[in-house]
Amino acid sequence: MAQRFPCDTHIHTARCGHAGGLDEEFVEAGMERGLAAITLSDHAPFYWLPPEERDPALAMAADELPRYVDDVLALAERYRGRIEVLLGVEADYAEGHEEELARLLEAYPFDVVLGSVHLIDGWLVDAPTSLARLNQGQAEVDRIWARYADLLISAAGSGLFDVLTHLDLPKKFGHRASLPFAGRQSEIVAAVARSSCAVELSSGGRRKPVGEDYPAPDLLRELASAGVRFVLSSDAHAPAEVGLGFDELAANARAAGVEEVLVFRRRRGTSVRL
Ligand code: ZN
Ligand code: FE
Ligand code: FE
Ligand code: ZN
Repeated sequence: MAQRFPCDTHIHTARCGHAGGLDEEFVEAGMERGLAAITLSDHAPFYWLPPEERDPALAMAADELPRYVDDVLALAERYRGRIEVLLGVEADYAEGHEEELARLLEAYPFDVVLGSVHLIDGWLVDAPTSLARLNQGQAEVDRIWARYADLLISAAGSGLFDVLTHLDLPKKFGHRASLPFAGRQSEIVAAVARSSCAVELSSGGRRKPVGEDYPAPDLLRELASAGVRFVLSSDAHAPAEVGLGFDELAANARAAGVEEVLVFRRRRGTSVRL
């Protein structure tokens, strides 16, 4: 029998403009996969941009956010006793706009806030359009990783987030740094450990050109040794992706010394044996 996992903590919905399926289909996929809980965590509005510059294919619109919250709370009611539906959000870290994000987050009863560094000085490192930069050669790739490291350390220390997502995201299209995480891996691990943010074990990367979970095995081992806590995530953008690869994700985590994962409710993590 398939193992029952406590939660898939990172699930998108059609509201962000690049995920498919009804909310119910994501929840029911979670039930079929034997998950005890599922956290919808769609992309928060791009709060750092003026509304007219926000791309509707990247994140939900600002006026969609209260409806999203109401819809997820209603789903939680509807599925009570069958699967626990939790309210999350994936919020970008936008350096210099921390106050705006804090205001946006405090208005809603989120169970978990996922913090993501996609944005590097005005462009998104995981967007297909970033390939023009990433393909400029190894020196530019290393420069991008180094800048990403700075921003990740700031995001960890911002106090805004419960969980840091896809920790080594610039590898998405297969571009590796010359040195482990730009030569700053131990500094990054120390910053994450100090922050008390959990880190997601994400199977999302295996669906991408890099074909590898986030974080990479060596980074995962260092995080685990530093006492960092983890959540399980698929970063599903379609119902079929819910809980995808969790058996292997959990096996790799156990091999790295991870014995439990967290489930977040009202922004507090409860640990569950993996
Ligand atoms: Zn997305
Ligand atoms: Fe993301
Ligand atoms: Fe995501
Ligand atoms: Zn993501």
